Amino acid sequence: MLFDTYPFELPPLSYPYEALEPYIDAKTMHLHHDRHFATYVANLNKALEPYPKLQCLTLFQILTRPGILPKDARTVILRNAGGVYNHYLYFEKIGPPCSATRPTGKLAEDIDRTFGSFEKFKGAFSQNAAGVFGSGWTYLVRLRNGVLAIVNTPNQETPLPSGACVIMLIDVWEHAYYLKYKNARNDYIAAFWNVAHFSE
Ligand code: MN
Repeated sequence: MLFDTYPFELPPLSYPYEALEPYIDAKTMHLHHDRHFATYVANLNKALEPYPKLQCLTLFQILTRPGILPKDARTVILRNAGGVYNHYLYFEKIGPPCSATRPTGKLAEDIDRTFGSFEKFKGAFSQNAAGVFGSGWTYLVRLRNGVLAIVNTPNQETPLPSGACVIMLIDVWEHAYYLKYKNARNDYIAAFWNVAHFSE
């Protein structure tokens, strides 16, 4: 997806919609993937349609080089490109609870070194996610200098312009949890760890 170009397509889930039950319910997955994610894909294509010169850019290029986008279309393109990128990674990095993974190898060592332990990392990440004001995302990233960090972004912004690499992310827009958890974002965040798949 990162290296795809216009016209972008909605990638199907690699697991059944109900596979994340009871932590994330099938209704939420349908709404989130088939409506919200699909809308970002459709709106990104619509925003790029009048600009043949931009249609050869990959999603990665769009997000990391915003300066090359025309001023009058920059906001709408970045907003939707960010929505496509964030949702693509989100659905890729969650999966059935039976196969949920913990970090291994260098990632596990770096998490221990940076945060003290995996449990302490989970606490810090959860606290960040709970603290996002309004709609946004929380990420575990590897910064350009190789250091791990937890960062938040508002709306559909991404950490890519800073050169960071996303390892894990959680969507804390209400549409990600409201059907099942209502306003209890903390319960959704706690459930999230059962479906998080770590890889770098
Ligand atoms: Mn979402």
